[in-house]
Amino acid sequence: MNTMLKAFPADLLAKLKSREPLLWVNPRLGSVMPENSPTVADVLTAETRLARCAGLMSMLFDELQVSGGVIESELFEVARLQRAMGSVPEHDGTWFIKADHALPIAGSIKARGGFHEVLALAESIALAHGIFIQDGDRRHMACEPARALFARHTVTVGSTGNLGLSIGVIAAALGFKAVVHMSTDAKTWKKDRLRMRGVQVVEHDGDYAAAVEAGRTQALAAPLSHFVDDEQSLMLFLGYAAAARHLALQLAEAGRTVDASHPLFVYLPCGVGGAPGGITFGLKVLFGQHVHCFFAEPVASPCMLVQLASQQNLPLSVYDIGLDNRTEADGLAVGQASHLVSPLMAAQLSGVFTVSDEQLYADLLQVLEAEGIALEPSAAAGVGGPGWLTNSNAGRNYVNQHGLALAGATHIIWTTGGALVPKEEHRRFQDHARTIRAQSRPSSSHVD
Ligand SMILES: *Cc1c(COP(=O)(O)O)cnc(C)c1O
Repeated sequence: MNTMLKAFPADLLAKLKSREPLLWVNPRLGSVMPENSPTVADVLTAETRLARCAGLMSMLFDELQVSGGVIESELFEVARLQRAMGSVPEHDGTWFIKADHALPIAGSIKARGGFHEVLALAESIALAHGIFIQDGDRRHMACEPARALFARHTVTVGSTGNLGLSIGVIAAALGFKAVVHMSTDAKTWKKDRLRMRGVQVVEHDGDYAAAVEAGRTQALAAPLSHFVDDEQSLMLFLGYAAAARHLALQLAEAGRTVDASHPLFVYLPCGVGGAPGGITFGLKVLFGQHVHCFFAEPVASPCMLVQLASQQNLPLSVYDIGLDNRTEADGLAVGQASHLVSPLMAAQLSGVFTVSDEQLYADLLQVLEAEGIALEPSAAAGVGGPGWLTNSNAGRNYVNQHGLALAGATHIIWTTGGALVPKEEHRRFQDHARTIRAQSRPSSSHVD
């Protein structure tokens, strides 16, 4: 047995290996943050950057003119979904969806981190070449001299799909050469869409980590090349963290208080951990102990759970505990959690629950039938969150131990991708979900 597993709770290990869905509660929640963690000032810097680049963004993308260049998603109550899933607001608190599945341009949560990192890169190159002065207008980054400058630079990323889409699209729009490394099994439509935008797609055998590694090696060897590192990028992380401010405004507008008697629960699908980790970090800055963040991971790929439950900082992957990292949730199929993010989440994350692929499809169908929203499988991972909290022993213990009253609680299911997925692909997801449902129900024709 791997010596790293010695400290791993044996019963948890057995459950994880059997792929039994579970809620794991983080025993180190509230412990001290590691030294040289990102700071509140870092998050503010990211917010400011995104704000000052809004004018530029609306120049680059017609569809952003309505929002003045702001990349944001809606927050709305989902009473029908809550009722359909057997939950009562007066008793359990009120359910919302944070609709990052519909973020403009990139159609997924990756727009937040990805756009922020490429904008930061463009700013630093433009500034170094005197395109604008420190406090100048960022719309200058769309002018010809800036584009000619960016055209000499390459932006490279390794991605299963959505990060590649986000980075590829913004990099190409600014005039950079864009190269996306993907695993061979990444969805064809994503590769096609990128190639249509003038992005170079390089395919690799092996999993997501192999594609990232290949991208890193190539980018490091090339001059004027920037590698967007999903596994350890602070710029991605801070772009995600900047989501918290707007969410706080939306909560206030919806009349939702967040305080000791009105806890906020947030359920976030987790792949490598950057997106949900950044958002958790940003929300903790604003709401402290009154926000409770839970990650959702596939039963085959619970990489953040495995890393945090090992209670050490040495990397531990889902392969190390005998899982295969095979899931239909391609955005979440990650074997090893980000080493930048996991030490932060050790102190900030409330817990992780795992989801089977069958459940992802069932939840995808629930959201479609109750709310008319089409999600990709990864994006439905958070839907089971409120149920885990209110209907499981681990969840109820968490609520009791923290002395929380649920009646005034707000539950946010963060839906993370789907708007760019082609119609035929959505139909395949939904047909598959209906087939699973039909198989799991006794056939009514046999009732006598
Ligand atoms: C990438 C992704 C996530 C998770 O983000 P990480 O930073 O990898 O943890 C969740 N949902 C979708 C749809 C994604 O593409």
